[in-house]
Amino acid sequence: MAGKRALNTVVNRLNIGKRSSTDSIAAAKDLKRATPDRPVYSEIVDRIQQLIESGELGRGDQLLSERELAEQFQVSRTSIRRALAVLAGRGIIEVSPRSGAYVRHPSARDAMQPWIQAMLREQDQVSHLAEVRLIVEVQAARLAAERRDEADVQRLWGLHDQVEKQVRDGHPADRTDTVFHVGIVETAKNPFLTELIAVLASAMMQQLAPSWRYLLTTDPAEAQRYISEHRQIVQAIADQNADRAAQLMSEHIRRSHQLLVGESRSARS
Ligand SMILES: [Zn+2]
Repeated sequence: MAGKRALNTVVNRLNIGKRSSTDSIAAAKDLKRATPDRPVYSEIVDRIQQLIESGELGRGDQLLSERELAEQFQVSRTSIRRALAVLAGRGIIEVSPRSGAYVRHPSARDAMQPWIQAMLREQDQVSHLAEVRLIVEVQAARLAAERRDEADVQRLWGLHDQVEKQVRDGHPADRTDTVFHVGIVETAKNPFLTELIAVLASAMMQQLAPSWRYLLTTDPAEAQRYISEHRQIVQAIADQNADRAAQLMSEHIRRSHQLLVGESRSARS
């Protein structure tokens, strides 16, 4: 993987270097003529964005170094540095201090998060979100039981143990709970499902985390039942019992949601 990536990087760097050498000099001259009032770095931002939109720079491609970009665009390194900071801030590139800047892979999460947050401003939408989770996660639990391999089972027990330990120690386990649920969906081995549930589960947990924490830290019996529901789900997946995994997941999501929504309503009134 690392070797392949390194090779791609070299190829991409060479391509960008070759392809852009004359174009970008022309572009840099155009920039200076066309828009004298705009700061140079924002023109560079636009140029790099255009290269990405046109497909000339692909997702995962490494950008040239600061020095090389400065030469290519015939601008100062300061302008390049500012442009890269803007692009990183917009989530278009990722800058690693050791290996340089890369064009980021946009995830479904990036696209869906603002939309879901906007919808969730109304309380009723949490129930709708729970309904989507129910539909998707029940079937995902079924697929997970059918498709799991030994490594998946080990991983799921590991995730389960983490949630259990946090709850036992009285720590808020909302993040690990989300990771646990996403881990089950991941076992269905369908990346669309995984991305979908990752964004839905974390959005829902953000909404319900306060009542969830309250419930699990103040009600030991509830905490115990919650852990045991998780354990049974993992066991059903380990046993490759698809019907049981689906049934248990359905009960778990319905129950948790009823409890949490009831809890957050009474906490607010
Ligand atoms: Zn759960």
